[in-house]
Amino acid sequence: MKESNNSPKLIYEEKKAIKLFLWLFYIFFITYDIFWYAILPRYTGYGGSKFPDGGLGLWLYVLILGFLPVSINFIKKGNPYVVKYFYLLGYVILDVIDTFIKYFGTKDVFASGNAVELLFVFFSPIFVNKKYFWTVACGIIGKYILLGVALKNGGVLPPIVITIIISAIASIILIRFYSYINSLTSAHEDLRQKEKLAVIGQMATAIGHEIRNPLSSLKGFTQLQQERDPNSNEYYPIMIQEIDRINSIVNDLMYLGKPKEIKFEKASIEEIIAYTLSITQQQAERQGVTVETIMAGPLPPIDCDEKQLKQVFINLIKNAIESMPNGGEIRVHVKVHEQKKMLIVIQDEGSGIEDEDILNLGAPFYTTKKDGTGLGLMVTNQIIQDHHGKLKIESEIGKGTKVNVTLPIKQGNYSKK
Ligand code: ADP
Ligand code: MG
Repeated sequence: MKESNNSPKLIYEEKKAIKLFLWLFYIFFITYDIFWYAILPRYTGYGGSKFPDGGLGLWLYVLILGFLPVSINFIKKGNPYVVKYFYLLGYVILDVIDTFIKYFGTKDVFASGNAVELLFVFFSPIFVNKKYFWTVACGIIGKYILLGVALKNGGVLPPIVITIIISAIASIILIRFYSYINSLTSAHEDLRQKEKLAVIGQMATAIGHEIRNPLSSLKGFTQLQQERDPNSNEYYPIMIQEIDRINSIVNDLMYLGKPKEIKFEKASIEEIIAYTLSITQQQAERQGVTVETIMAGPLPPIDCDEKQLKQVFINLIKNAIESMPNGGEIRVHVKVHEQKKMLIVIQDEGSGIEDEDILNLGAPFYTTKKDGTGLGLMVTNQIIQDHHGKLKIESEIGKGTKVNVTLPIKQGNYSKK
């Protein structure tokens, strides 16, 4: 669609359009003149009286035929995009000169132009190029205005009106083309994204599976070694902690590729949040982060996979803590929303996220942290979707981030997955 895009496929499309255009151009150009000079006068007495009719005379035809080798040269040099402009410009210039010679100083009825102009306008959408469309419409209308003013001839009005009407139709067609192409492209993009994720998921599951077994024996032996060797205890806890970290990364990765089997059971959101906070407490304390929780009234149990929801809130609270390296406060609000939903808001006073980065948040491996994985939000988002819920992130640089999680209280209304 864009001329700057020189992919072979687009160049090929442009060449096809140019070929079609050239055929139509010459067919229209010649048929119209045959009609005008030979057929019309014979049957109606109207039309061109003699051929060639003043102006540039035969030269007009020679020059217009001469456009062809020049265009073929452009195409051969890998520059098919200029051909359509070349024809438009060439035609308009020749036509202006021709008309000037014919009509200058006369009071003849204005009958210049060729139906080929309508072809320029009407077929301009085949190039799917807005710039070209506007050049054509303005070029041809401009030509008539120029002629009308210079020759002081009102006869240019009808062709102007016709060109405007045809331009309007062509622009509607062009807009349809654009919108159709755009939705095709975005559908294609979605599909690619899904395929990419599917491949990442399968790879992740396969690799994760292979890593987990050696990892668990590594952990087992490290613990054993630690018990055997209680005197040099310094490094063992770190080793075990790091092994656990690898394990949790592997688990995140494996979540991406697993077929989602969710067992919905009733669980208390208060307990899930309390568990989450107990898990993250140590890290929060280390960074001087305090957590305030507000539960609005007695909350009904919600249908969920408890283990997975815990994972969601651990990820979100961890992100909140990590956004405040110099301490601060996290506020967790839980309340029933519109009677059927549970709304959980996690608000931090951290670094915030740039507007343009908010779009990247769900993408796998997007991270701004030195030892981040960029998987947390992706898994979180996936789990929330599997629960038919919603995740919304609002953020302001320097002020903090607010994460809204909405979950349906009952899953019954949704078809089983
Ligand atoms: P990770 O935590 O491993 O980087 P996530 O998927 O959890 O991966 O988060 C992706 C990125 O989103 C983070 O690296 C961070 O830049 C940004 N982010 C997420 N939550 C917050 C938050 N509460 N405040 C600021 N930035 C955040
Ligand atoms: Mg994270």
